[in-house]
Amino acid sequence: MTSPVRLVFVIVALAWSGVAAAQTIYPIDRAQILRGAKFDLKVEFPGAPTSGDLRVTINGEDASKVLGKKATVVEREDGAARTAYWIRDAELSSSGPVVVEASAGGSTASVTWDVFGTPDGRLARNVILLVGDGLSIAHRTAARMLSKGISQGKYHGELAMDSMSNMALVSTSGTDSIVTDSANSITAYATGHKSCVNALGVYCASNLANRQHPQFETIAELAKRKLGLAVGIVTDTEIQDATPSGFVAHTRARADYEDIVEMYFNLQPDVVLGGGAQFFRPAGVDRGKRRDGQDYIQKFQNGGYAFVDTATTLGDVAARPETRRLLGLFNDRNIDGALDRRFLKKGTVAKFPDQPDLTDSVRAALQVLSRNDQGFLLLVEAGRIDKYSHSLDWERAVYDTIMFDNAVAVAKEYAARSNDTLVIVVPDHAHPVSIIGTYDDRKGDELRERLQTYASAGFPNYPAPDEAGYPPRVDVERRLAMVFAAYPDHCDAGRPHLGGENVPVVAADAAGEKTGEKATAVASPTYCAPGAARKIGNLPITARSGVHAADDVLLTADGPGADAFRGRVDNTYVFRAIARALGLAK
Ligand SMILES: [Zn+2]
Repeated sequence: MTSPVRLVFVIVALAWSGVAAAQTIYPIDRAQILRGAKFDLKVEFPGAPTSGDLRVTINGEDASKVLGKKATVVEREDGAARTAYWIRDAELSSSGPVVVEASAGGSTASVTWDVFGTPDGRLARNVILLVGDGLSIAHRTAARMLSKGISQGKYHGELAMDSMSNMALVSTSGTDSIVTDSANSITAYATGHKSCVNALGVYCASNLANRQHPQFETIAELAKRKLGLAVGIVTDTEIQDATPSGFVAHTRARADYEDIVEMYFNLQPDVVLGGGAQFFRPAGVDRGKRRDGQDYIQKFQNGGYAFVDTATTLGDVAARPETRRLLGLFNDRNIDGALDRRFLKKGTVAKFPDQPDLTDSVRAALQVLSRNDQGFLLLVEAGRIDKYSHSLDWERAVYDTIMFDNAVAVAKEYAARSNDTLVIVVPDHAHPVSIIGTYDDRKGDELRERLQTYASAGFPNYPAPDEAGYPPRVDVERRLAMVFAAYPDHCDAGRPHLGGENVPVVAADAAGEKTGEKATAVASPTYCAPGAARKIGNLPITARSGVHAADDVLLTADGPGADAFRGRVDNTYVFRAIARALGLAK
């Protein structure tokens, strides 16, 4: 038991170390590191001590001796008043607690890592990780209401993601904040390490260059290096967006799209399907945006990849038995969501009329990946659930949740064939969204007259879903009232955005003229029609969209290794469970 006197001492010591700026050690305290996985050890010593004054130990022994690699010491790294101690590409060969101490000039800092192994043998031949970006409980509930129907309080069916053997609550906070973004959240799933907002596959150290921060190996790199698995990455966003990039990228800045394409090329995943074609092509060629003049579609083709850019060619090429490496880019930016592609024909559907549904891409990926004798690791992301939630466009977000669930069904059907595939379905973070009743157009003109709660809400009257689970119309008389708890100034009509994705705000200065990023955002006048409610935002005045929430999210899993998931787990645990299922520490 900690005595009060000792506790006071600890608090004083912590406060003091904050003032004195102690050494910072990466990986950080309480890091969990897979035995045999590569990571960069970095210590930052404040005040730029010279190399002779430093000492870094692992369990009391010189770190470079334990890791079998020479350390590099950089005095005044990046010209700053710090000395950096580096051992890149290190790995630890035995499990158990590891204490790392860094000393200079009489000051010592220490961290403890938990190095973990995996049981002998491999539980699963394949792993499919399906990430619903921003998928919150309310999206899931609404998708079930619309695609399965509900009466007298009972649903008429289950979502594919509901009927799985195991379930766990996942906490998503990062090293820098209670609220994560998709970059550091996929980093946790893909590497087992926590990171900070905007970072992929690295710790957020003091380095100036985005690619110089301390790295750790991703599950895709490990699966290829250790087991020879085929790797697939499938998304409906730009392939360079945070979640899909989590398997390949090591950068402090998720926005560095050109670099991230290069990282895809370096890892060479066997299947890459998504949007973002413009960052593969040089500026001036087919709407290309690359400033380095490189044509990465050509480079992938030279590397033995088949390239496709429509849903039709995707299906044809994936079906050919000789196709073992496949690059598919179906839009310059994000692939349009299910509501636009299937029903409203808005977004960029006129420009890209033959984009695949996520289920088409998952089927094609499974067809190609299953040709590898060693098994495969597949990441699938439904990314626009998040994007449409940022724009407060819940109908589009829920239609994409239905699409995501259909993709889960495809994965489960594949897994059911031989029961050797671990299927994990997990959001990366939540949005603050809830279903609070219905809007009934018969009850009045104003938004708050139409809003019905408790008994008067009853049930919505969407038409019966089509074969794929989508009601053919969203503009019905009695709709779900799905509301966001955090928003900028905007006008809310309580009606679906049939003309295209919601744009809640425009940027304006005091004179009402559009200005730059930091300008105050004001409600888009388009939606401020009679009957709409003008809502004063509760986010900062420059906010253009909704934000993520720190709420826990719900994971479900099926297949060999799924038993690892129960109770509440940290997001880094998803990596640990995949490593266990694949026996990756061997
Ligand atoms: Zn987001």
